[in-house]
Amino acid sequence: MAIVGAGVTGCSCALTLAHAGLRVRVHEAREVASGASGRNGGFALRGGAPPYDVARAQLGAERAAALWRLTERALERLAELAGDAFRRTGSLRLAADDDEATALRAEYEALRADGFEAEWRREPDGRLAGRFHGAIFHPRDGSIHPARWVRGLALRAAEAGADIRERDPVTTVDELDADHVVIATDGYTRGLLEQLDRAVRPTRGQVIATEPLNAEYFACPHYARYGYEYWQQTEDPRLVLGGFRDSALEDEFTAEETTTPGIQTRLEAFARELLGWAPKITHRWSGIFGVTHDLLPLAGPVPGRAGLWVSCGYSGHGNVLGLACGDLVARAIIEQSPPELALFDPARAF
Ligand SMILES: Cc1cc2nc3c(=O)[nH]c(=O)nc-3n(C[C@H](O)[C@H](O)[C@H](O)COP(=O)(O)OP(=O)(O)OC[C@H]3O[C@@H](n4cnc5c(N)ncnc54)[C@H](O)[C@@H]3O)c2cc1C
Repeated sequence: MAIVGAGVTGCSCALTLAHAGLRVRVHEAREVASGASGRNGGFALRGGAPPYDVARAQLGAERAAALWRLTERALERLAELAGDAFRRTGSLRLAADDDEATALRAEYEALRADGFEAEWRREPDGRLAGRFHGAIFHPRDGSIHPARWVRGLALRAAEAGADIRERDPVTTVDELDADHVVIATDGYTRGLLEQLDRAVRPTRGQVIATEPLNAEYFACPHYARYGYEYWQQTEDPRLVLGGFRDSALEDEFTAEETTTPGIQTRLEAFARELLGWAPKITHRWSGIFGVTHDLLPLAGPVPGRAGLWVSCGYSGHGNVLGLACGDLVARAIIEQSPPELALFDPARAF
């Protein structure tokens, strides 16, 4: 077995294959967690990129509920595997205006109608009072230290027997001597499979982190404006903020891992607004994630290419889904036929 990419997806897939006693080699162009898995906002959320009510309209009630349940189970698994790299904080999805409040209310009602845990917050308090117009609190969500979590996952896969090779870029899948090859490169996929290059759009996310602050102002991951702004505090407690991609939407559809003054300035201004003073910014970075036409991942066999699999395109929501999808693909390879894999069939986009 060969896996391309050692982010959360590749390491999850490797762990399940190695546990099943299969010989598995992971080829990573840079280092474990050097892609989006080690550079993201650290939100560990159930569900997919579309809100639950939207997914229900898109997939039908039964399939949307199956997807949410899958991610709830994956989140529990993440909590078990990650140790202190995971904190169960809950997460807060906030409405920036009345229209977004209506959208949130629709998601909240759909979740409750289908028996999922969620709490409605009419007026966020403290620093957020007056700024946001309602919120959904998801009590089982949490916060991860992304790189620490994925390096730990890689270590488990290696201990189970996976051979993880860093600084080992794959130029073509045909060079790999394996019965099964899994492409787990999310937004970094380029040139390995033409269908994937067409179906997954590389998209840049930019982030800043402040110096450690004098207190904890935000107890859990927060996101608003449909995810175009998000922030949380780490244990330090630094403030980590990301987003504002919508201020340069076309420019941010790129695979170039750089920061830009326009978005960085917006992120700094937002940090100032949230805190009421200008914190010192100590870290700036960007990462690339892969977006699909329906914002759901492409995970499963590549049509017409026996033994070739993909698991990519989480559309900015891959911390929990990547763990789930890497495992599902591995289980399909070992012929356990997990029914949830049908939710992500790549044939819909290829
Ligand atoms: C700034 C930012 C913020 C985000 N915030 C969140 C969040 O808060 N919550 C959330 O759920 N999701 C978030 N995401 C999305 C999430 O990080 C990704 O969906 C997830 O990490 C994807 O994991 P992966 O293992 O599939 O891909 P990656 O972690 O990107 O790993 C792919 C790996 O493949 C390697 N690779 C690529 N091509 C080759 C090749 N030819 N040969 C060998 N190796 C190769 C790369 O070097 C890379 O290490 C965010 C993403 C970004 C960029």
